[in-house]
Formats: sequence, structure tokens, C-alpha cells
Amino acid sequence: MSRGNYSPVTRHTERDLAALLGPSGITVDPEKRAAYSIDETIPRFEREYAADLICFPENTAQVSSVLRYASEHRIPVTPRGAGTGLSGGAVPACGGIVMSMERMNSILEIDMENRTLTAEPGVITSEIAKAARDHGMFYAGDPCSGDISSIGGNAAENAGGSKVVKYGATGAHVLGLEAVLADGNVVTFGGKRRKDVTGYDFIHLLIGSEGTLAVITKIILSLLPLPSCVTDLLVPMPSAASAVKLIPLVMTEGGVVPSSIEYMDRQSILNVERYTGVSVPYSGAGAQLIIQLDGMDRRRLWNEAERVGDICVRNGALEVFVAEDRNARDRVWSIRKLVAEEEWTNSMPVMSKEDVVVPASETARFMEGLPGIMARHNASYNAFGHIGDGNIHITVFPDAAIENEDLHKLAGPMRRELYDFVRELGGTMSGEHGIGLKRKEYADIFLSAPQIELMKRVKSAFDPGCILNPSKLVP
Ligand SMILES: Cc1cc2nc3c(=O)[nH]c(=O)nc-3n(C[C@H](O)[C@H](O)[C@H](O)COP(=O)(O)OP(=O)(O)OC[C@H]3O[C@@H](n4cnc5c(N)ncnc54)[C@H](O)[C@@H]3O)c2cc1C
Repeated sequence: MSRGNYSPVTRHTERDLAALLGPSGITVDPEKRAAYSIDETIPRFEREYAADLICFPENTAQVSSVLRYASEHRIPVTPRGAGTGLSGGAVPACGGIVMSMERMNSILEIDMENRTLTAEPGVITSEIAKAARDHGMFYAGDPCSGDISSIGGNAAENAGGSKVVKYGATGAHVLGLEAVLADGNVVTFGGKRRKDVTGYDFIHLLIGSEGTLAVITKIILSLLPLPSCVTDLLVPMPSAASAVKLIPLVMTEGGVVPSSIEYMDRQSILNVERYTGVSVPYSGAGAQLIIQLDGMDRRRLWNEAERVGDICVRNGALEVFVAEDRNARDRVWSIRKLVAEEEWTNSMPVMSKEDVVVPASETARFMEGLPGIMARHNASYNAFGHIGDGNIHITVFPDAAIENEDLHKLAGPMRRELYDFVRELGGTMSGEHGIGLKRKEYADIFLSAPQIELMKRVKSAFDPGCILNPSKLVP
């Protein structure tokens, strides 16, 4: 780990920060430091990077006092939500302070008249969805990690998930932010209003900025009326190419924007079968799609489901299972959720988890090219994800048993070839997991020199001393 030109965390730093936050507001316990120095990126960055001190602010004033202190003393600060990130964003690349937002975890207000929910950043995403639901409202941000990730982390990563195709990623639901700048100044962007062209759109500059520009301390989210009817279609298709070609037709011919269009390739389904020991219908199909429709009118939804089902059958579907009641829908989605669960419990070493996005028109070409790339790097893979957005997750396994350090090395050439191919198709290397530490060295494949220069200037305008999450995102 290179600590750059930063000052070390000393006993004086510990004493000063304990005075700002109280003795229980900081820790230097080695086990805690290790636990707060990694996220869920596989292969892990453990042993490579370590925080010197973890702090747990309880309010905006404390965040501000720590950042002011860190700026004055030139100590790096890495903001951390729930640590479920998949690109090393919360990993302290230059050591220093990890600022955990876990104690700022209150839902501050639900305002029915303005249809907004205001929350601190440490609130777990599914608690926001539940609070909205309890008021008959709908929070449409829906990362698959909703039960474990925080809303601050979702905003900082512009988290996507399975409802982006209709409702957009996290940033589409954010109306306002309170944030603390590196020098400790507190700023408020936006508010409970739905329109605002008064000045630059700083909200959407901070969304997806991976903790490199400011620490988010309050978020105003937009709520929608809760859809009263939901139907899921499980559609086995003969091949990956036939599955992805079907997707635009659902919207163009069917005239329907589904709330989700999820994809699982044959290998993903076989992994689920092996993991659960239970057979999945049509597990031999080339791929399976889950198409979810939602709305307020049951008859209308039924007509839409029929239309979409017809399109699927006309385009080669082996079957269309319609799941209308809660139990049947849970069974359909449990297969999709088990794809991810199986991967976390699988003992096989993972070389990389990828998160590429290509335009809808290129998904078939992407699927055709993928096996060749993996074969050239002696790797096998399974692919799944949010295909309605052209966002495909690929979990890559080396064909031979390999140590953690070698997995990082092996992943490099594979990623480069994959990303070059994705760029050729007009796509990009990450749809929702971010650049973080993991993809920083590949950013110049997708970002031009003037873009990178502009990013550097934005970074230095927000954080001239470069103390906020250094060595991330900006190439
Ligand atoms: C099983 C599993 C499924 C997943 N599914 C999805 C999915 O469907 N869609 C998706 O988009 N992602 C998914 N992820 C990735 C991850 O959950 C998201 O990136 C999530 O938004 C991270 O939130 P977090 O609270 O864990 O943030 P962390 O991992 O703690 O941090 C992520 C980044 O945000 C910054 N940050 C955190 N809080 C703040 C703050 N208050 N102010 C400024 N910066 C901050 C950190 O510095 C870091 O750069 C999944 C992860 C797992 C493990």
C-alpha cells in the first residue's frame, strides 16, 4: 500500500479525534480495522490495504469536524456505508481514516404531500422501501443488495438493480442531498422540489462519485404511488442470443415497459441446481428471462402479460410461466437470487466479477463474442443480470486452482480484452458497481484524455488536498 504524501495517524490523531467524537466514536482495534478495510470485491483486497483508524460520526456536525481536522492535517478519509461494494470503493487505498456512516441510520421524515422520504446515509435500503410501503408509497430504488447495503452507498455508487429498466437507478430518485466537503463546509443541493435549473446539477455530480468529492449526510428521495398489481413471467429460451434479441421487442411490439427484465444463462441455472439439489424447470434451456410487469389495474396488467407472453412464444420461448400470486412470484425470483447466493458460497476461486453494459442492439453480438474471450484466458464463466438495461454480470473462474494474488494478476489481461470488446460495441465497463480500485487502471479505455483532465479538475475543485477517498475513480 502506498501512503503517498499523507501524514500518518499518530497517538495525537487518536486523542484529537476522540475529543471530537467521544471515546466510543473511534477505534484502532486491529480486528475492526481489518474488517472495515475490505468490501465485497472478489478477489479480495485484504492484506493489501489497511485503515489506521475507524471513526463513527453520529451527525453532520461530527462529519464536518473530522473532515476539517483531516484536511488541516492531510490525512486521507475513506467514507464507508455498509461495505457491500463490488469495486473496492470503500477500501482505504492510502490508509488513514475510514469514516463509517453506520450510526447515521435514521429515517428522518416521510412527507406525503411532497411524496418524499428524507434519510441519513447509513439507513439500509430495504428499510427505506419498507417505510415507504407502510405509508402506501413506493421507493423504486432496488439493488439486489437492498437488505445489506446503505442508501448513502447506493447514492455514492448510483446503484442500479432490477427495476432500472422502468424506474431508473438510484440517482433518478434523489431530489436533494446534504453533503460535507473536504474542508468541513456543509452544503445542501436540491430539496423537496421536482424541478431545479438554478445552477449546475451538483446532485447528479455527487451521485456515483464514489466518495471522492464529498461525504453525503442526508438524502431526500422521491416516492411513487405503490403499484397494486404485479405479475412475473418466467421465460426459458433456447439460446442466449434468442433471449437477448427478444428484449427490445417487448417494448417496441408489446408497447410495455416492464419493471424488470432479468437474465440467467444456462450455467447460472445449473449452478443453482447443484447448490440447492432441487431441479429447476427447463434447466437445459440456453437462458431464462424473468419479465416483471406492474401497474394499478389488474385487467390492464393481464392484457399486457398476454401480449408479452405472445411475443415471447412467437420468438422461440420454450414456455411462458405466469406467476401472479405472491408464492409463485417468490419462487420465480428465488432462482434469480440463488444465482448470486450460490456464487458467495461457492468454494471455487473467482477471478473477477464483471458488470459490463452494452446497447440493447449489441447484446446478441456481445453474447456471441464472450465465450471466445473467456476461452483465450483459460477461464469459464456464468452470466446473469439486468439485461433490460443491457447490464450483464459475468462471474469468471480460472480453469486451474490459483492463489488470491495470482487471481488479481490473471484478471488483468482478461479484463482488458473484455473491455476493448465492450467499447467496440458502444458499451462501458461498469453499469452499477463502479470504478473504485478495481477498474481504475482501465478507465482510459473508455474516457478520453480531455474527459480525464476535466475529472481531475472537478476533483481538485471539491477536494484540493485530495484527502477524500484518494486513489479511486479518477485515473
Ligand atoms: C450480493 C450483492 C448484490 C449486489 N447487487 C447489486 C445490484 O443489484 N445493483 C447494484 O448497483 N449494486 C449491487 N451490489 C453492490 C453494492 O451493494 C452497491 O454498490 C451498494 O450501493 C454499496 O452500498 P454500501 O452501503 O455497501 O457502500 P460501500 O460499499 O460501503 O461504499 C461504496 C462506495 O460509496 C462510498 N460511500 C459510502 N457511503 C458514502 C457517503 N455517505 N458519502 C459519500 N460516499 C459514500 C464509499 O466511499 C465507496 O466508494 C451488490 C453487492 C452484493 C454483495
